[in-house]
Amino acid sequence: MTQLSRRRLVQGLGALAVSPAFSSFPSPAYAQGAARIVVVGGGAGGATLAKYVKVGAPNANVTLVERSPTYTSCFYSNLYYGGFRTLESLTHSYDQLRSIGINLIQDVAVDVDTSARVVTMMGGTRVSYDKLVLSPGIDIDLEAIEGYDAEATQVMPHAWRGGDQTRLLKSQLEAMEDGGVVVIAAPANPYRCPPGPYERICMIAHYLKTNKPRSKIVLLDAKTSFAKQPVFQEAFETHYKGMIEVNLTDQIDSFEVVKVDPRTKTMTVKSGQQFKADVGNVIPPQRAGGIAWRAGCVEGRWCPVSPESFASTKVKDVYVIGDSSNAAQMPKSAFSANSQAKYVANTLVAELNGLKPLPSRLRNTCWSLLAQNDSVKVGASYSVGELAGAPGLVAAGPFVSEPAEPASVRARNFKESEGWYSAITIDMFAAS
Ligand SMILES: Cc1cc2nc3c(=O)[nH]c(=O)nc-3n(C[C@H](O)[C@H](O)[C@H](O)COP(=O)(O)OP(=O)(O)OC[C@H]3O[C@@H](n4cnc5c(N)ncnc54)[C@H](O)[C@@H]3O)c2cc1C
Repeated sequence: MTQLSRRRLVQGLGALAVSPAFSSFPSPAYAQGAARIVVVGGGAGGATLAKYVKVGAPNANVTLVERSPTYTSCFYSNLYYGGFRTLESLTHSYDQLRSIGINLIQDVAVDVDTSARVVTMMGGTRVSYDKLVLSPGIDIDLEAIEGYDAEATQVMPHAWRGGDQTRLLKSQLEAMEDGGVVVIAAPANPYRCPPGPYERICMIAHYLKTNKPRSKIVLLDAKTSFAKQPVFQEAFETHYKGMIEVNLTDQIDSFEVVKVDPRTKTMTVKSGQQFKADVGNVIPPQRAGGIAWRAGCVEGRWCPVSPESFASTKVKDVYVIGDSSNAAQMPKSAFSANSQAKYVANTLVAELNGLKPLPSRLRNTCWSLLAQNDSVKVGASYSVGELAGAPGLVAAGPFVSEPAEPASVRARNFKESEGWYSAITIDMFAAS
């Protein structure tokens, strides 16, 4: 790696906040020899973290454990349904991370011995760590909805993890007859990507409007309201009039899906009403990735972390970032996970170089595409403050798109989102 590319990466750490004079001596918090940083999960959080630590502390031994040979992003995957992206354009290689000296283990981490500080893989490999960073994303809760088990996901896909599920939902939409009904079940908060189900409705509606205009989409929502609701509801009216039926939970009716029958593609909501789908997209409740449970980091469904450092509050020398962490008020998004990764890398790199980290920033922006060139966004920055009497990450400078904005603003948002997608994936996977 050239001096210039290293400098660029260091700037990416939010001006990394440590001196560029790298020392090769790890602090006493680490064992003798090269410090061992093990990262589980090569997605928005884990890939970014592994790269920034390796670049900022080249002498550290950085191991990234990832189950898949390539990464297909969930973020931007709704655009695939609208015909604005191919799945190939959302799929990324780990080769460049290997080329900068990250030790990539393509396997599933199945256990963590937090006393001996060892991670065990399904294939039997064992790796010791000084610091362990977990960014395993989400597990779909297959116990939350009666009838929605692993087999049912192959009939009524959730498509809430990138790859095969995303492709399966698209192929079902393509096979559906004109005049068919797509039923989408959205979960209660918190879950991965709060505006995701509603962007998905828009993108599926865009595809149906063009290809199967007599078709309909029915939303069954466990919530009373949802992210960016005014602009989504405006889009449902202006772009897709008559195509979308929105069922939000209120004091009278609960539209939380509690049971599914994959044989008939029927969903039953809490109030007893049944909805039959031609294509059923069940997005169930979610929880921290399995390895975070094995490591003893979970409380409830997610992993409590110190908002100052993202260190697990339950297990020493383990950090949890991305969707698995409870980083309220930060939403579970790729932007958040990438920002958290750089925040933690800042601390680790400073420690490894015997320096003091300077404050770094946490931010999030989520764009949603409503129709061609019509994109909206929501975002904020976050800093440590008080939330319900305890330390937490408090939003500052929030912004959100509003109904009736000029088309030029929406088109600019779309350009921004395209720039963001290429920037974040370069940030995660490219060597320079
Ligand atoms: C439809 C949809 C649209 C979205 N749109 C946006 C958007 O526009 N903007 C945005 O910011 N976010 C968006 N998101 C959210 C975003 O995808 C996630 O928040 C983000 O990917 C979280 O990053 P992560 O590192 O926590 O998990 P992931 O990116 O999912 O990475 C986790 C990785 O860990 C691996 N893994 C898990 N367990 C193990 C194990 N035991 N051993 C080995 N490997 C393991 C997985 O294979 C995976 O590669 C969207 C999500 C969805 C579903």
